[in-house]
Amino acid sequence: MNPTLKDLAMKPYLEAKEIRDSGSEKLIAWITSDSPHAILEAFGVVCLYPENHAALCAARKMGQELQEAAEQYGFSQDLCSYFRINLGSVIAEKSPIGSLPKPDFLVCTSNICDTVVKWYQVLGKVLKVPVFYIDVPFNQDGISQERKYRHIFYVKYQLNQFIEFLQDATGKKYNMFILQKILARSEQTTRLWREILALAKEVPSPITAFDAFSWMGPIVTQRVTKEGFQYYELLKNDLMRKNSQTREKLRLFWDNIAIWPKLRDLSDVLAGMGASVVVSSYTSCWQRNEFFNPDLDDPLETISRQLIGDFLNQGSEARIKYALGLCQEFSVDGLLLHSNRSCKNYSNTGLELKKRAEKLGLPSLIIEADQCDLRFYDEAKIKRGLEEFLEIIKSKKEVKG
Ligand code: SF4
Repeated sequence: MNPTLKDLAMKPYLEAKEIRDSGSEKLIAWITSDSPHAILEAFGVVCLYPENHAALCAARKMGQELQEAAEQYGFSQDLCSYFRINLGSVIAEKSPIGSLPKPDFLVCTSNICDTVVKWYQVLGKVLKVPVFYIDVPFNQDGISQERKYRHIFYVKYQLNQFIEFLQDATGKKYNMFILQKILARSEQTTRLWREILALAKEVPSPITAFDAFSWMGPIVTQRVTKEGFQYYELLKNDLMRKNSQTREKLRLFWDNIAIWPKLRDLSDVLAGMGASVVVSSYTSCWQRNEFFNPDLDDPLETISRQLIGDFLNQGSEARIKYALGLCQEFSVDGLLLHSNRSCKNYSNTGLELKKRAEKLGLPSLIIEADQCDLRFYDEAKIKRGLEEFLEIIKSKKEVKG
């Protein structure tokens, strides 16, 4: 039977729970969102994603209570809400799925932000489990090919050490053939994701980026599993069959992570104003070119390139160009830029992106909020801002004819 989104979201948690309840020898790892999951999958390790779990807690309205638990433990409200929710969930032993099964070890890559490095240090101490760190150098704008190659070599060296660590931990031998198969499948799944997002190029679009936010969990956490592939294959077929259309008068781009507890509300507000958010950098960054054409003769080099190629590991110029390219490809009329208090790394290109988009004749609105923390969400102000902004775009469109 084909897996539903709910099945997929629950699968790793249920599997991990089963491991803990049955006393199985299978291992559980908690990992950061752009880690070498393919290698862990090749060793049969069950992977849980604290960031994804934090988004789930926020969407299910449990985020606030868990963030406050972490704050009472001594961590500032200024820190990433994913971190606070995860720590709060560990301390309070609470989550919408009961509680997160304890990991045997943690895996942290530094390619998304510096926060995770400290986050996993704290987690390792609180949970009393080892942490395997993979240091991924920042891919700054204008880097020379020679330097880039040295970075790839440096990450690949660490992946070889990671494999030694996993061989010791699991008692299994590294099997390159299995890893090759996983990487090939991961590329096919990413291709399906790209094809699904591309449906929004149609005018009017049959899907919105808010739909894609709710479908994106598996592309982050299950890209390497066969269930992830099956899910997107089915979703794509369904979407192609339905041929539904939104009633869009305006097409918008969204930058940054979604505001998870307000996903449905915001989507309804925008739809009510005739605006469709048809593309976002956040859903699109999981279908970037780095995930395609893996060199299966050298899977570790391929994974090193993918880790370095993570969207948030790129210089600001590369990220801005990527965002503007999406605006053009999806024919948008304006940009919504979420200035996300939690994610400083993501938000630091917002002002420059606004300036550059405006030079191209695309108006932008900065929305100050947080991906999970509703204490930074001013509903009335955001709604007012949206109404005024959409009026400006509409009149601009009318003048253009
Ligand atoms: S700071 Fe940003 S990239 Fe880092 S964990 Fe939080 S949301 Fe993710």
